[in-house]
Amino acid sequence: MEKENVDCLSNETKLLHEPYRARDAYNSLNMPIYHAVAYEFETAEQMELAFTGKSPEHVYSRISNPTVQYFEQRVKTVTNASEVMSFNSGMAAIVNAIMTVAYNGGNIVTSPHLFGNTYSFFAFTLKDFGVETRFCDLTKPDEVKANIDKNTCALFLEIITNPQMEVADLCVLSDICKAHGVPLIADTTIVPFTVFHADDFGVNIEVVSSTKYISGGATSLGGLILDYDSFDWLHSKKLQYLANHGKLSAFSAKLRMEIYRNFGACMTPQVAHMQTTGMETLAIRYERAAETCKKLAEKITALPNISSVNYPSLPNHPYYAVSLRQFGEYAGAMFTFDLASREAAFRFINNLKLIRRATNLFDNKTLAIHPASTIFGTFTEQTRKSMDISQNTIRISVGLESIDDLYNDIKQATEK
Ligand SMILES: *Cc1c(COP(=O)(O)O)cnc(C)c1O
Repeated sequence: MEKENVDCLSNETKLLHEPYRARDAYNSLNMPIYHAVAYEFETAEQMELAFTGKSPEHVYSRISNPTVQYFEQRVKTVTNASEVMSFNSGMAAIVNAIMTVAYNGGNIVTSPHLFGNTYSFFAFTLKDFGVETRFCDLTKPDEVKANIDKNTCALFLEIITNPQMEVADLCVLSDICKAHGVPLIADTTIVPFTVFHADDFGVNIEVVSSTKYISGGATSLGGLILDYDSFDWLHSKKLQYLANHGKLSAFSAKLRMEIYRNFGACMTPQVAHMQTTGMETLAIRYERAAETCKKLAEKITALPNISSVNYPSLPNHPYYAVSLRQFGEYAGAMFTFDLASREAAFRFINNLKLIRRATNLFDNKTLAIHPASTIFGTFTEQTRKSMDISQNTIRISVGLESIDDLYNDIKQATEK
């Protein structure tokens, strides 16, 4: 397939077709897995050019690898990001993105409603390096403004928080960021980029755990950073010296040339291969899982032992309108519900016959977990309270099974 032919295609088709730069010896239809550490050169002069970034050859797979680069190119084609970098986990993507913008004496403004390890990274790990994290309510614009100052390195958020299911208004936050010269970094793991276009809502840097939807059914861990080149890095105390660097934004230049190599959290070629294949079915898997999720959330609302169901695409949800505007009909393929007590929640988990007891999101199989005792289990009750993690809450990640089988399992598990 010629490059020119790809540009005019729809996104569903683009997910499947992307030529790679050079044909391999056997005309393999898929990009081969280049399981190589290093790459050989003919001359010292060619080596110098490649090692100093003046020619595009790969030199060492921690820095770049053909199979990994191909995966990044595929993501670029679907999202229109100006630069895409892949990592060996979602956490690695988050840490690399923050390390690119943060500095000793700087601060990050975010919400306490965060993925457990992201919270821990901000609250504990970064703190030891002199980076302060200011946790505030991102649904209250005045609170956000009050926390931003001249040392704010970024506003960080998750587009739908988990398990609270809070949806901040991205356009409001993006306007605040623009007024203060602060980049907006969003973890968009929960709604894939085939549906949610972060760039349209003012997100400057998008981070994704590709372990979830993209991997194609929990095949592998992975992470992505997408740079839309929409922020003027002259506003960044740390990156202003790199602004107007040339082809890459100052952020991507710092990330690709320094942070990424130094942390060494690169995606492996095997994973890039699995996730390239996973991405080919991303749009249809998401559509199916999200539709089942909404129907299931609606249906179980009527069950007598379930006290409340939390899914932003239900019309009575406090964030229904903003969710509809940002994510369309489906706010991801995950919902939570509350039972009467922690004991009732444990009983429910133990009674399940079909739904699997496991963490992770967007496996092809439906998964259930009690977040308070697992993902947030090592936090103090006080920290859990500050994050609004309730002992009564069950989280369901909806897979590809038939809705009737899922409903029947939830029903029988709440009845016993
Ligand atoms: C799973 C997850 C992460 C971490 O991703 P890993 O690939 O497990 O490192 C970060 N953010 C969100 C929203 C997640 O669901």
